[in-house]
Amino acid sequence: MKIKIHRGTHQIGGCVTEYEYNGWHLFVDYGEELPGGPKSGDLLVEGLTHGDISKSALLITHYHGDHIGCITKLPKELPIYMGKVGRDIQMELSDHLKLVDGVHQEMLDRLQTVKTFEPGKPFHWGDMEIMPVTVDHSAFDAYAFKIGIEGLSVFHTGDFRTHGFRSSKLPDVIKKFIGEVDYVVCEATNVARPDAANLPEHDLQMEYQELFTKNKGNVVYVSSTNIDRLFGLYHAARYAGRLFIIDEYQKRMMDKVAARDSIWGKSKLYKFKDVFKPIELSVKNGEFWMTDKFKGLLEDKGYVLIARSNPRFDKFIANIPGDKQMYLSMWNGYVDKSKAAYNEKLAKSLGEGFLYKHTSGHCDMNSLREVFRLLHPKAIIPIHTDNPESFAKLFSDEWPIVVLSDGEGISPVSSRIADSLYPMVICGRTKRCLGYFKRKEDALSILSHIVFHPDKQAKYEIWDEEDFSSKKLASGLLSELQKKSE
Ligand SMILES: [Zn+2]
Repeated sequence: MKIKIHRGTHQIGGCVTEYEYNGWHLFVDYGEELPGGPKSGDLLVEGLTHGDISKSALLITHYHGDHIGCITKLPKELPIYMGKVGRDIQMELSDHLKLVDGVHQEMLDRLQTVKTFEPGKPFHWGDMEIMPVTVDHSAFDAYAFKIGIEGLSVFHTGDFRTHGFRSSKLPDVIKKFIGEVDYVVCEATNVARPDAANLPEHDLQMEYQELFTKNKGNVVYVSSTNIDRLFGLYHAARYAGRLFIIDEYQKRMMDKVAARDSIWGKSKLYKFKDVFKPIELSVKNGEFWMTDKFKGLLEDKGYVLIARSNPRFDKFIANIPGDKQMYLSMWNGYVDKSKAAYNEKLAKSLGEGFLYKHTSGHCDMNSLREVFRLLHPKAIIPIHTDNPESFAKLFSDEWPIVVLSDGEGISPVSSRIADSLYPMVICGRTKRCLGYFKRKEDALSILSHIVFHPDKQAKYEIWDEEDFSSKKLASGLLSELQKKSE
């Protein structure tokens, strides 16, 4: 099997990974690059963007723009697979945005042809088997995949975290559906903060509840597709006894999950209480509109308004009497002038004195270690990170880390293939087999990208397994091998 990272070895947005076996190609994600970072522009990938695509398919981990955003540029005949609820949410979003920009209509058209898979139900692409499992992320219905052939498997994490409402299930999901794997292709977004533990989503909800109890008027700016946060805010408003106010579009978005998602829909978290229904804003002549009675109710009960930065909301908010506390419940880079993602409109809507109340959608590094211990990989390939070298330093005490450049990959073969080679890395008493390879170049190639105990001297060996006996084909210092291959 070939595992190739077309993009994302040294940047967060726009990761594209390829798994190839016997001429069948599975790609994972095809999204936009983030503003401000390095840019490689439109990718040219044989079997994906052009050439023979008859044995190619694309899997989408989740609906964030940096994972799905560029699928409209791909050939129409290319089969694309994603989770059903995730597809529905993206459709709602594209439908909402299509008047702003024609590209969203194109996205909507493309989504109509997207096929869906179900969590825990494996399916095949050629001889490769794909096992999709749900992971917790700031996008709902996000997936990780186990992609394998007999005797060789890879866990592709997608974006995920361990501090969300639904994260506690992850160890069981891994034990039940994934087991141990040979390689992990892992998101490493939060590598810059190796010691930081992320605030659990539940604790964030409690903080909101306290603030909503203290403040009567509350306006929260949050991504309309961050479903878990939205329901957390709903329950925080409910316990604080404040009205929960959303517009019709936001309500439709939340309804996509409430009582509908096959796994989570029945959970109490995603249910609106009959005695505490969200209040939908009414629209008159294109503007949000309130009666004097409604105004009185707001003043009397207090409220939590879920807002987006646009003139319609700005106007409505200005018309609500009384003090208002504004909150930013998404990444603060959007209101940081030094960042390329700076959103002037949002900064203006928030004004001065807003509170930043947010927690990351990505795993912290200590929790990642726990996940790796369950998966027991031979080696780990970091992607979705601007600093794979730091990631390697962090984890190479326990696992060999494969630091690739965009366009590079590894080519392991199944452990069941006879007459294969296996490279080892050795540091002191720790010996790690990096898997099985057919050709010596492939064994040397993975070795040339390995970081293993970088502060100590590590050795390598390549063994040839033939007729039940093994002989050493090559050996030396890892550092010297890597100097040679540079
Ligand atoms: Zn994401």
